[in-house]
Amino acid sequence: MAKYIFVTGGVTSSLGKGIIAASLAKLLQARGFNVTIQKFDPYINVDPGTLNPYEHGECYVTEDGAETDLDLGHYERFLNKPTSQANNVTTGRIYQTVINKEREGAYLGKTVQVIPHITDEIKRRILLLGKDSKYDIVITELGGTVGDIESLPYIEAVRQLQWELGEEECLVIHLTLIPYLRAAKELKTKPTQHSVRLLSEYGVHPDVLVCRTEEPMYSDLKKKIALFCNVTVESVIEANDVNTIYEVPLEMLREKLDVICMKKLNLPMTKEPELVKWREFLDKLKYPKSKITIGLIGKYVELQDAYKSILESFVHAGAVNECKVVVENIHSEYITPENVYEKLKNLDGLLVAPGFGHRGIEGKITAIRYARENNLPFFGICLGMQMSVVEYARHVIGLKEAHSYEMNTASPYPVINLMEEQKKITSKGGTMRLGAYACDLKPGTKAAQIYGTTHISERHRHRYEFNNDFVEQFEQAGMVLSGKNPESGLVEMIELPHHPFFVGCQFHPELKSTVEAPAPLFVSFVKAAKQYAENKQSNKQQLVEEHQ
Ligand code: GLN
Repeated sequence: MAKYIFVTGGVTSSLGKGIIAASLAKLLQARGFNVTIQKFDPYINVDPGTLNPYEHGECYVTEDGAETDLDLGHYERFLNKPTSQANNVTTGRIYQTVINKEREGAYLGKTVQVIPHITDEIKRRILLLGKDSKYDIVITELGGTVGDIESLPYIEAVRQLQWELGEEECLVIHLTLIPYLRAAKELKTKPTQHSVRLLSEYGVHPDVLVCRTEEPMYSDLKKKIALFCNVTVESVIEANDVNTIYEVPLEMLREKLDVICMKKLNLPMTKEPELVKWREFLDKLKYPKSKITIGLIGKYVELQDAYKSILESFVHAGAVNECKVVVENIHSEYITPENVYEKLKNLDGLLVAPGFGHRGIEGKITAIRYARENNLPFFGICLGMQMSVVEYARHVIGLKEAHSYEMNTASPYPVINLMEEQKKITSKGGTMRLGAYACDLKPGTKAAQIYGTTHISERHRHRYEFNNDFVEQFEQAGMVLSGKNPESGLVEMIELPHHPFFVGCQFHPELKSTVEAPAPLFVSFVKAAKQYAENKQSNKQQLVEEHQ
């Protein structure tokens, strides 16, 4: 049976529980264990698919089509292993299961209560992944902060599990904050003491404390925390701020977080962690040889988390190209034909992001036109691809009123249409075309060359599609429909052969990009942008020389 590690959070949110969990998992994986991570979120939504990105950041989609928390993206990027529906559970889903069972009469007349019925369902789901003999260790991240009303049933479930599983079978890590008071020039431990005390009141005693700090902790501080919080000094782990999340596993290695966990779980100390590839990636990331600027056009650009996987994919693709990718956020609502040159002139590439609804759409179309006409590398993902199709229809084919059915139901040329199977659907949650689908690439296209194969599978999240009634018009006008789903014939990729890089995809390649396996489309896009930047530079050079 698997061993369990629970990660709880104290003092405040946003301390990076997901990154700590993923880093520990990475170290244990590097020591030869099979590890998976799951996240329990204490909100009532059944999944985050219905949440506005402003509320909760990006919605991450798994292979099996679950709409999940963005922390699952970190788990996959660190571990290079796919997650699934079972890796993300919300309070909404727990209650839905319990209420459905109650309606079926499964509780045989009993009063259904938080304890034991809700906590039993939480425990059942916590243990689910561990039952699969695939895993030696299951790390469970509990969303929210200790002390939140909505987190209580989860803490209670952990209390019961600590008792039921026994000492060497599970452990609790508490992630906490040691704030630095600038005026006093001191790190303060009191919030951590209170947080641990609160957790202990609920009957859960943490085995390991991971302390986030902005300033290095002096050695006596660990002793003080250990004394007040009833843990050994070696169980107090310092987690300093670092430049990139990908350094955190190495920081945790230095602090021996993996060793202390293995000791407490009585796991064999088999081999030193194998992190050669990880270190190579970090080296390339830290010492880039060139720099490019990519414009990210979307409507949630103020919020970094809204495009998390895209930003991380650029980090992976940048490292492969030994190139620093600076992502400049551009709000599509403010782009007009008059200012588009000013707004995009410094870019080496343009990415039009996924999205929903009509706000900012005309700005996206204007930017795409600029990229197409000026040979600026362009990459359109999902809505970004759909808008590149609309742009081509309007300005190349001459269908001036072309649009996506999502934005204009009355357009005479709905070049992007609602998918047939979507027409009867009225409810919103979990009803899009979701998860992994196969895609066949046309031999000889840029897409096939980028992937190095003609059969791929990528993840989806959309309701609208390229309207196949217009295939001929697009092909005659020079757009190559380079990828199609083999069963339904849905267009999954488009490209322009005479442009240095003009590629759109209906799927989300950013969801599969990991440190070890960067997404090929991002790697090629960054390469094209690098080329564009070099050409720009040598043109400038030439002009200078001509004037001399
Ligand atoms: N709104 C578009 C659709 O539903 C695009 C979705 C997306 O970009 N993820 O098809």
